[in-house]
Amino acid sequence: MASRGVPSGDEHPFGPAVGRLVQQFSTLPGIGRKTAERLANHILSVPEAEALQLAHAIRDVKESVHRCRQCANLTDQELCTICSDSRRDQKIVCIVEQPRDVTALEASGAFHGTYHVLGGSISPLDGVGPDDLTIGLLMQRVRKNGVKEVVMATNPTLDGDGTSLFIANLLQEFPVTITRLARGIPTGSVLEFANKEMLADALQGRQAF
Ligand code: ZN
Repeated sequence: MASRGVPSGDEHPFGPAVGRLVQQFSTLPGIGRKTAERLANHILSVPEAEALQLAHAIRDVKESVHRCRQCANLTDQELCTICSDSRRDQKIVCIVEQPRDVTALEASGAFHGTYHVLGGSISPLDGVGPDDLTIGLLMQRVRKNGVKEVVMATNPTLDGDGTSLFIANLLQEFPVTITRLARGIPTGSVLEFANKEMLADALQGRQAF
């Protein structure tokens, strides 16, 4: 398991169990070896019941949270809260790459349709093809639910733009208007880091694809 310069769990001075914990923390995004060590020390210092709450919270989300049957957003129900909300316009579908993009767009409060979460973008270099995403589910949805507008809100990156174009081509056979977010969002940036005013503008000013 040891990779470039990172000692394996077995080499930790407190023993392999602590080593494995440090190793696990260091796999989290934004967590380097030093921070992983600090987190492990924190876990060692708190009472057992408190430390286990973290373990239980992780287990609970992994056991209960899955993809929404309709939009592939994360939910602990069959349908997510947005798909099952009768006040949301089911005929407008905003296409995003990840569940965290839904969170970012929802924070803008500017969108009253529903979403479709692709699960990533088409990226030949990373070996991600159309079949690895929820594009089939989207097509089914457009065909069955009489969707009238699809808003492309993939990230303004090479892969994100390419993915939107690919989907737009597939949608040609349906009587659906295709729009995309206004380009207030700088090219190459990632949706989840845009501020909510910017996202609200981008949604309200959406334009023909
Ligand atoms: Zn849903």
